[in-house]
Amino acid sequence: MECVFCKIVKGELPSRKVYESENVVAFHDIQPQAPVHIVIIPKKHIPTMNDVGAEDDAVVAEIFAAARQIAAEQGIDASGYRLINNCNADGGQVVYHLHIHLLGGRKLGALVA
Ligand code: C5P
Repeated sequence: MECVFCKIVKGELPSRKVYESENVVAFHDIQPQAPVHIVIIPKKHIPTMNDVGAEDDAVVAEIFAAARQIAAEQGIDASGYRLINNCNADGGQVVYHLHIHLLGGRKLGALVA
């Protein structure tokens, strides 16, 4: 079965996009864990953080730039936010297409298991 995030990139699955460029897409998470919960992904299928290579430097930098821009657009840059990457089974990764969660809009708890 094809990767769900690749389907979102191709427009084969609906998503509420907040950012799109040649190499990066960001959309509202369908199961938000905070008032603002955006998923930021490379269009390229990179399964996990372990698979990021030196050739991906530009797209990784763009993901962080997009996170800053989206946080400002969502009005949470000053109040604060959290970026999370879940890697592999113990990290809680469910979708095996690299992504960063941008969470904010409320005071987040301590980062524990
Ligand atoms: O980091 P992890 O792989 O656990 O998270 C995947 C995230 O992708 C989940 O928060 C899930 O709600 C989200 N998702 C989504 N749209 C989909 C499928 C998954 O926003 N169509």
